[in-house]
Amino acid sequence: MPNHVRVRFAPSPTGPLHVGGLRAALYNYLHARKNNGSFVLRVEDTDKKREIKGSYEYIEESLRWCGLTPDESPLLGGDYGPYKQSERKSFYKKQIDVLIKNGSAYYAFDKAEELEKHRKNHEKKGKKFVYNAHNRLKLKNSLSLDKEKVNELLKNGNYVVRFKMPDEKTIFCNDEIRGKVSVSSKELDDKVLFKSDKTPTYHFANVVDDYMMKITHVIRGEEWLPSLPLHVLLYKSFGWEPPLYAHIPLILKPNGKGKLSKRDGESFGFPVYPIKWKDVVNVRRAAAFEKGLPYGEEAKDKTYPGFKEFGILPEALINYLGLLGWSKQDNKEVYCLSDLVGSFEIKSIGKSGAKFDFEKLIWLNSQHIQKMSSEEVVKRVSLLNPNSKFNVTKKVVDLIKPRLERLADIDVEFGYLFESQKRDPALEKKLLNNDAKTFLKDYCDVLEKNFENASQLKEDLGRCSKIGFGKSMGAVRLCLVGKLAGPDLFELMLFLGKKEVLKRIGSVVV
Ligand code: GLU
Repeated sequence: MPNHVRVRFAPSPTGPLHVGGLRAALYNYLHARKNNGSFVLRVEDTDKKREIKGSYEYIEESLRWCGLTPDESPLLGGDYGPYKQSERKSFYKKQIDVLIKNGSAYYAFDKAEELEKHRKNHEKKGKKFVYNAHNRLKLKNSLSLDKEKVNELLKNGNYVVRFKMPDEKTIFCNDEIRGKVSVSSKELDDKVLFKSDKTPTYHFANVVDDYMMKITHVIRGEEWLPSLPLHVLLYKSFGWEPPLYAHIPLILKPNGKGKLSKRDGESFGFPVYPIKWKDVVNVRRAAAFEKGLPYGEEAKDKTYPGFKEFGILPEALINYLGLLGWSKQDNKEVYCLSDLVGSFEIKSIGKSGAKFDFEKLIWLNSQHIQKMSSEEVVKRVSLLNPNSKFNVTKKVVDLIKPRLERLADIDVEFGYLFESQKRDPALEKKLLNNDAKTFLKDYCDVLEKNFENASQLKEDLGRCSKIGFGKSMGAVRLCLVGKLAGPDLFELMLFLGKKEVLKRIGSVVV
């Protein structure tokens, strides 16, 4: 194994980046940085039919927003490029010839209809059709047919290349998180490595590229664990040493029932993408059409807000995803990216799925906001919402920072800082009776003469209050905020200023 650690994040550009993918990218990044290694972004775009325009650019932008900038990528280049599989076709052609020559792969000429028939016949008998050693000599391929026939069929050009899965063998693989994994080759089929359109399948291109890009550790989602035996066997067939593999468990829905899917964002009411994704119907329709699928969804372009638009800081999202499913020794929860780098260990990643807990993410977000200077919060808020009708200044942030959970919606959540709000009618009924109104009138008279600092405002309130201090505070707060929420009442009064305070209280008294 080479000394220099090289990891890669290898998404297919088939749509936006989901939190599960983002966590895989993060763990790769952490492992690279921890070991002074390289973090590579490779785009697995061999399946042009499934490609969705704009997804690759979206993925790079999402990584950039999260601070997970790769060292090598299609955009940045590097010594092992090209970094888009669609630009690496000649490499795959060369390598598939190696496997055909050394007998690890063979040509297969079975038509799709013929294979479908076998599948159906097996299904009728309650069996599964598996194309491998037990039946390959009865099927149409370069192992079962004579040389002349094979050459003739090859000239037609209508063939695929299949991997020759070893017969009756137990295949042992190692996963850095789960330990030894074994599977009988009887259950595995002779996977297609090269398709009839002369492009490689995911498995083949993935293994060839990991080798050629000198990848030392493959850290990816658990859904790829079933492919591990094939990938390890492909390495063996080439005589190459495989990288170390770690398959990260799934991120589960908040209720623990299954994988958090792309659609769950809508049903659970929180985002599942890092930044907003514009799902353009034309693009989806074209993709469906190419696949020969009917397109039945409503014909409307749709924008899905991401965590960014929800007012989540990238620092908090990274912190949350970093700790999700990673059992750490200390009890600390608030980490910055460089802290995570320092303590990251592949072996500490848990074996079972981790439930997505949006409340916890919001809590972490508020913690990161507290750590940030008010000036920085102001900058981020204005970048997020440049057209806001309110001016969120340092003075505003200083006042609400301890209560700020998300950068978005300041104007909704804290609208009372900018303009007078409608009062909650139930609270109004409860708190603003005649006695309270008399108190408010007296307090206004005092404030008219004296409006200096928090302690004076407080003392004067106490002096005017005949209905009790708590009730008096509640009445004033309701006038200023519209509900019983918000920062320290007297700090809020100073923030709003004498004129505005008198105006808001005055509207109740008259
Ligand atoms: N292209 C695969 C994906 O989108 C990559 C799997 C892997 O990392 O090997 O998930």
